[in-house]
Amino acid sequence: MRSASKTTCDRRRTLGWLGAAILATTAGACSTITSLFKASKQEANYQNMPRAGQQCAGCSHFIPPDGCGRVEGPVSPNGWCRFWSARSG
Ligand code: SF4
Repeated sequence: MRSASKTTCDRRRTLGWLGAAILATTAGACSTITSLFKASKQEANYQNMPRAGQQCAGCSHFIPPDGCGRVEGPVSPNGWCRFWSARSG
């Protein structure tokens, strides 16, 4: 026969694993959804060089070393697109 504390511990452990599995699944789904809504480089008018002093490295959407939260695929820190937004701070 199992003690009450052993049963409670098993439930907590099971709930912990279940919570971790849900978080992992949700994080993966969010990443997939985010990438679905990224613009293509063509849609963003992306170019591999700065424009009027603006470049990816100074953009709030830039994810070093070569990622972007708004545009698909790798981008250059020296690139630019129409979604450029000044990085704060
Ligand atoms: S300028 Fe465009 S491509 Fe570059 S980081 Fe910002 S949003 Fe992305």
